[in-house]
Amino acid sequence: MDLWDKTVTALRDVVKPYDFMHWIRPVNCEAIDDQTHEIVLTVPDDSHGRWLEEHFLSDIQKTLRDISETDYDVRFRCLPEATDASKSSPARPTPGRPAGPSRAAPDQPDLVARYTFDTFVDGPNSRFALTASQAVAESPGVRYNPMCIYGGVGLGKTHLLHAVGHAVLAANPEARVLYVTSERFVNDLIGAIRTNEMDAFRTRYRDRCDVLLIDDIQFMAGKDRTQEEFFHLFNTLHSSHKQIVMTSDALPQAIPNMEERLKSRLQWGLIADIKPPGFETRVAILKGKAEADGVYLDDEVAMLLARHITRNVRELEGALMRLEANARLFGQRITVEMTQAVLGDLVEQGHRQIAPDTIAKAVSNAFQVPMAALKGPRRHRQVTVPRQVAMFLIRELTDASLPQIGTLFGGRDHTTVINALKRIESLREADLELREQIDRLRLELTR
Ligand code: ADP
Ligand code: MG
Repeated sequence: MDLWDKTVTALRDVVKPYDFMHWIRPVNCEAIDDQTHEIVLTVPDDSHGRWLEEHFLSDIQKTLRDISETDYDVRFRCLPEATDASKSSPARPTPGRPAGPSRAAPDQPDLVARYTFDTFVDGPNSRFALTASQAVAESPGVRYNPMCIYGGVGLGKTHLLHAVGHAVLAANPEARVLYVTSERFVNDLIGAIRTNEMDAFRTRYRDRCDVLLIDDIQFMAGKDRTQEEFFHLFNTLHSSHKQIVMTSDALPQAIPNMEERLKSRLQWGLIADIKPPGFETRVAILKGKAEADGVYLDDEVAMLLARHITRNVRELEGALMRLEANARLFGQRITVEMTQAVLGDLVEQGHRQIAPDTIAKAVSNAFQVPMAALKGPRRHRQVTVPRQVAMFLIRELTDASLPQIGTLFGGRDHTTVINALKRIESLREADLELREQIDRLRLELTR
């Protein structure tokens, strides 16, 4: 056994560090026959052995010969699966990290740490996709396979995809989660074709993967060879109950220049869409992000941003990041004035100020409550709900401050306004009819 230890030490200088950690370190010596000059090496699984044979056999033989001055016949033997120890042994280390018993997981995928379910703000626009992703992460390969998340740019598809990966690994650190962008997949494939390493490519994607997370599949449009390879990969993984989660910026059936047979596969499972978030969700996302960054964000500012940046969460976060950078740089608090100064056009442009009274009037019409009653002292439910809706919409659609809104409605206190806003928030959750009424009013007013 001594011989193998020496060989391993010497191989460290022969092969690249990553290859050493990944491929050589997990190998153990089972037997050496000095008569027949045979050495039996154990490997975690079949594909590992094949890879070694193809790529490192000559290095191993040469090193053995250098050390022992004997030509050894090298045989690889796969460890029995029975105990599953082959999978969970501290074998395949994370690239760049030392091997050790605490790092039992195979290649950690490149997941952004922040993209977890915890940091994903739940809103009606993405609830279905979120719930489905959580279900998939809970029991990968069982339900909803494949799952495809589709939606416009910057709406959280990649975030959810990474969150699935994190959750799978949290529940089972040994799960082999492979995250790739479709771009990376295409480049890997091109590289493998060029260097004649298709087997290695297939091993990596087919044999070493329990959960495949593949981002932006629309990128495969028009790339025939990629589609073909992905089609076979899909079939292999799917038939062995490995989970596949994809994202796309278009409905799978609507991706142009995509092979029919592949499109039909993509529709086998569950398709969940993400829509642009509504106003409240945009505010919640901003507040969540600021909190994560340890920055205090005023409601006023959050609402100002959410009112103007409506279509893309990435842009929303971008605006917040600029404010945070500015605040750090100049040691200032983020205020409405600063926001206007820093973001300028972004929060002015296209902003048609709606007069608060226009909103009150629209609410008065919709609920058939006279303006005088809306602004008066009465507290009957027939009057208070419309009054609170008016406050809520004025808050959302104008720059009016809380005290200003209070003044508009018969000199009410700003805490009354806050309570009104809260009440409407919660009423909206429970009362679908009211929610629709508010949505209709908002549409009408902002058209
Ligand atoms: P996509 O892949 O759909 O283009 P991303 O997943 O890259 O979008 O999201 C863009 C940014 O917006 C990311 O920083 C992400 O964390 C954030 N984001 C999107 N939706 C949400 C959400 N519901 N809650 C929290 N952050 C979100
Ligand atoms: Mg993305």
